[in-house]
Amino acid sequence: MLAYIGLGSNLNNPKQQIKDALIALNSAADVEVVSLSSLYRSPPLDATKQPDYLNAVCEVNTHLTALELLYVCQNIETEQHRVREKKWGARTIDLDILIYGVQVVASKQLVVPHPEMMNRAFVLVPLAEIEPDLKVPILGDIQELIAKIDVSKLVKL
Ligand code: AMP
Repeated sequence: MLAYIGLGSNLNNPKQQIKDALIALNSAADVEVVSLSSLYRSPPLDATKQPDYLNAVCEVNTHLTALELLYVCQNIETEQHRVREKKWGARTIDLDILIYGVQVVASKQLVVPHPEMMNRAFVLVPLAEIEPDLKVPILGDIQELIAKIDVSKLVKL
C-alpha cells in the first residue's frame, strides 16, 4: 500500500526533527519511505508569536493497516518528546496520515484522507511536488485543490 504522510515541526531544530522522524519512519517494521518532498517554511496557522513551521511530505510503501501506521506515527511523536500544549500549539514534531491508498477511513481515531489537507498549502504543495497528477480520494485532483487556496505564504527551501 502506498500512503502519504505530512511532517511538521516548529521547535527544537525543526529541520533535525523532520530528519529524525523520517529516519524513524523508514526504520519502522514494514515501512519504507519511497519519496520525499523538499522542505517548506510557513507561518503558524493561528498567527500567534510561535515560530514558523517547517513541513515536508513523504510517500511510504507499507503492509501495515492505516491504524497500525497511525500508531507508528504516534510513537515517533512520543519518542521525539512532542509537547501537546493546545491545538495548533508549537510542537517538536507532528505526523499526519494524509492519504492511505484509495481507502476512506472515518473512525474516532483516524480520518483519511486527512480532513484538513484541502485547506493547507504546506500539505498540498509538497504532495504535488512528489505526485503532480495525484487524485486524492474524495477530494479530487491535487492541482485543482491547490488552485483553490492561498499558497503565497509558503516558501520552498
Ligand atoms: P494532532 O494534534 O493534529 O496531531 O491530532 C492528533 C489526533 O488526531 C490523534 O488523536 C489521532 O487519532 C487523530 N487523527 C485523526 N485522523 C488522523 C490522521 N489522518 N493522521 C493523524 N492523526 C489523526
